[in-house]
Order: sequence, then structure tokens, then C-alpha cells
Amino acid sequence: MSKTIFLQTYGCQMNVRDSEEVLGMLRAQGYEIAEEPEAADVILLNTCSVRQHAEERAFGKMGELSVLKQERPDLVLGIIGCMAKLRQAEIFKRLPRVDLVAGPAELYDLPYLLAEIQEQRQQAELVQGAGLGVGGNNGLPRTPNPEPRTRVIAVDRPYRPLEKKPAGDYRRDRVTAFVTIMEGCDKACTYCIVPKTRGQEISRPAEEIIEEINRLVEAGYREVTLLGQNVNSYGKRFPDGSGYKGPLGRLRLLEEDPGALLDFPQLLRLIDASIQGLAGPATAPPHASSPRRTIAVVGSGRMGALAPCHPPGLRIRFTTSHPFDATERLFAAMRDCPSVCEALHLPVQSGSNRILRAMRRGYTAEAYLRKIERLRQLVPEVSLSTDIIVGFPGETDEDFEATVRLMREARYDNAYIFKYSPRPGTDAAAREDDVPQEAKEERNQVLLKLQEEITLARHRALEGCLVEILVEQRGRFEGQWFGRTRGHHGVIVENPEDLLGKLVQATITRGTAHTLFGSLHGAADHRARRPDGGGEVRRRGGAGAVVGGGDRLLRFDAGLPEDAGPLAGPHPRPAGASPTPPH
Ligand code: SF4
Repeated sequence: MSKTIFLQTYGCQMNVRDSEEVLGMLRAQGYEIAEEPEAADVILLNTCSVRQHAEERAFGKMGELSVLKQERPDLVLGIIGCMAKLRQAEIFKRLPRVDLVAGPAELYDLPYLLAEIQEQRQQAELVQGAGLGVGGNNGLPRTPNPEPRTRVIAVDRPYRPLEKKPAGDYRRDRVTAFVTIMEGCDKACTYCIVPKTRGQEISRPAEEIIEEINRLVEAGYREVTLLGQNVNSYGKRFPDGSGYKGPLGRLRLLEEDPGALLDFPQLLRLIDASIQGLAGPATAPPHASSPRRTIAVVGSGRMGALAPCHPPGLRIRFTTSHPFDATERLFAAMRDCPSVCEALHLPVQSGSNRILRAMRRGYTAEAYLRKIERLRQLVPEVSLSTDIIVGFPGETDEDFEATVRLMREARYDNAYIFKYSPRPGTDAAAREDDVPQEAKEERNQVLLKLQEEITLARHRALEGCLVEILVEQRGRFEGQWFGRTRGHHGVIVENPEDLLGKLVQATITRGTAHTLFGSLHGAADHRARRPDGGGEVRRRGGAGAVVGGGDRLLRFDAGLPEDAGPLAGPHPRPAGASPTPPH
């Protein structure tokens, strides 16, 4: 009889995707997925360490689940992901019934680790069956072990061996999909624990990424989000040791042999070319204008032509981007690639240069603003979102005012505001957490209110505009559908027929601070770009008039707008979720 697995996910999209990969690997090993923990032989929690709250929720949940072991001692309990890497000793101390702890870099080992637990248990049964229980060598009678106690720990890899993923994949959603393009982070932001949990950066070879996207399109997916802690440093290091190594290496290649540089902008172009069906036998560099062009993949240890894949219609998104590595080359790729959505999440964290320096972010507020100004020149309809931390150690009223000024200037479509809390193990945790809780709360509220005003204004500007929507799920009420624009705007439309997975066009009829409502115009097979390269957003009765600022990224952590209702839709927010891979 096959075994069953229950897996609960905490954290960001990268954890959601990791969980899908784990379920896929274990299904390939014969496991079935259980919807409830009570029905499972193996229970795993895929955990997050970015905030203490998420860790405590995982500890609490596993504490509850441990009770199941009283009735079923053969149950396997495991904690995987970031918390496993960071809190291994504490996990076994607080949760003595846990059998397995495996970090993010060891997830591909899970089939073997679970087999190891079975083997250890069989050995223990053999010992007990032979009457070799505890004690006995001092004249006292042997006593049988009360419950098979196994402890398998795997947390030591510096990074995930991307080339060694076992067979099998699984995705809950059928319309949108995550594709991991790189893992880990080589930055050292002083508040962030991620480099310690996820390890060094490592990028997947481009061929594998494009093959995976091709398979998704063949399976009917309409949107792919490329995932990584810092997608903008894609290509720095590949599993075979190749890669441009660092910012200087990238600059050197750009000067000496730009055709040989495989970085993130180039990856976007390769993916887009594949989506547009332009890829063909190797004859010209990727930037050539030939309608059938070579896609020479250099720097992934392999070079070869990529097969054309599928009709246009797939949307590409990506997250997360570090501002230091977001270059004009990236903005140009966003402008040039029709499949790449006009949406960028660019976490600024603070508007104060003093605080940015203390956070070790590697840019100033002025440099950041210059970048988004240039982005808006190249991609006028782009939708921009950000992350901001208030109350970082030493943040004064003046520092906070600088953040308010930056937000007013940047006019984000959406912003995720976080109150600073120290994470043990980070450099910032060694500093005094000296901003009072009330001040953090007040600053948080000021920024939330400011962003709400900006978002409402941007939504109102969209009223009367024609937008393309990918319908992702049903709305709360009969005949209601929820979809997203290319700018990741959440829009509710009404239609009696099934629209799931369809690209449709709608006119925005009403914009509130949290939701857009639209009226349908009919199905669209793929994005129709204007000949002048502008966006697809048009004023009703005024075809071609681009609306400044594009549309807004709907808050991931706010779930769906109230009007859309609680939906069992794509990428349901995992417990304790962060909206994006932490930045
Ligand atoms: S905030 Fe982002 S870039 Fe900075 S260390 Fe963490 S994951 Fe890396």
C-alpha cells in the first residue's frame, strides 16, 4: 500500500515552489498527497525564518501535530526549510517527537532521508524483536523501546545541488506557475537571515529553465513567475562552476564579449524568444534581429540551440529584484520582450541614506530614484511595488521623513511595509533595537495611509482604460471572476461562462483603494503590442493613449479583495507568508 504525505507551507513564493517540488519528488517515489495531517504517514512543515512570528507558528503547529504520534508511533514528523537550517537544536529540544530536520539546500535529499528513517526504524524493530531492548548488560531486565525514535538531520550543504533534483514535479494551480531560476543570496543585508538559511547563490542553466517553461505551456499554463532571492544576479554561478562570478565579471564581459554574457536580462530575452517561437538553429547572436535566431547559451556550461516552443500568449513575471543589480539592461529587456509583464517589485527598504548604509544595501536613495526614473522612461506603463522596513535600529524622525519623501516621489503602485524586529544571527541583531514599539507602529500607519492614497489615485486613473486580464479563479459570487492585468492588478469581472485560464479584455469601470472592477470586451489570445512599442492600456474612445504608471500589484498578504471572496485559487497564501522572497 502506498504511503501518504501531508505538507504545510510557511513563507514566501520560493517556499511555495519548494513545497511543490518536494511533493512532486515524493509522488514519483509512490507517495500520495493527503489533504489532512490525520490521513498522512509523513507530515512535513516547510518553514520560514524571516520573521519570528512565522517560526513560532510552525513550532506551535508541529507541537499540535506531535500529539498524533501518541496513537500512531510510526508517523514521520519533519521540519524542512529555513527554520530547519537555523534552529535544528531548538527543534529537537522543543519538539522531541520530530524525526527529520532538513534545510533548504537539502530538499532534494528528502526521498533518501525518508528512506533512511524507515531503515533506522526497521533496524530498531529487529533489535527489539531479538530481545535487545534498552538495558540488560548490568543484570537488569531489558525493556523494549517505547516508540521508535529517529533523528535524521541534513543541514550542511552550502547550496542546493540544482543539477541533482530527483524526478517528479507537482503543481496545484493550472493557470499560473512558479519557476525557480536561482537559489540563495550572496548579499549581506544586515537585517536579513536568508543568506544563512538558503546559502550561496546558484543559478539554474538556461536550457533547463526554458524546457520547464515549454512543458508548462504545453500543459496549458498562461503565466510563469521566475523566482529567486535576487533574480537580477542570475548567471553569477552555475552548478558546473561557470558564470560571470560577480558585478566586475559581468562588466568585463559586457565590454569584451557581450554575446557571451548570460545574465538575467539575457535570460529574459532567451525566454521571450522561445515564447515568440523565434528560436532556431544556431546562426547569430541572441540580440540579432533575424526572425529566426540563434540562442547560444553561454556560461551555463553548455551551448546549444533552443527549440521554438509554443504560440505566444504566455506572460512572464519575476521576483525579487535587488536595486543594486537592477540595470538599464534589465529595463531594456522588459521594454523589448512582449511576454515580460510591465511590473517590477524593487524593494527600497528606506529613504534615508544613513539607514540604507546601516542596512548594507549598496545604493543611495538618489541612485534608486534615478533607476526608477529611467525604468519609467523605457517602460512608461510599468507598475512598481516595493518593501519598506520602519524602525530599523537608529532610525530617527528625520530618517523616517526621508522615507516618506521617497515614497511620495516614487509613487509606488503598491508597498509592503514591515516593522523591524531583530532576527538572531543577523548583524543588525547585535545593535540595540532602540526605536520604541509605539514609534514603529505609528510610522507603519503613516506609510500605510500614504500608500493607500497613492494606490487609490492610481486606481482611479485606470477607470475607463482597456486592460488585458488573465483570469485566475472564480470570484465569491456566482458569475464573478478574478484575474490580473499585466501589471499584476487584481480585477473582478462578471461573466456567466467559464473564464478560468482565459486572457480577456476589459474596461476598468471602478477603482477603489483595494480593488478594480471591469466590464468584459471578449477574449484575447495574446497581448497586442502597439506598433510604437507602447503598452496595451488604452483610454476608452482614445485608442493608443498610454496611461502613466500602469497598474498595481495586488497585495499578496492581503489575500484577495473582499469582493472576490475566499477562493481556493492559485498559490493560496501559505501560513505566515511574506509576499515575495525576502528582500
Ligand atoms: S534582503 Fe534580499 S538581498 Fe539582502 S541578504 Fe536578504 S535575500 Fe539577500
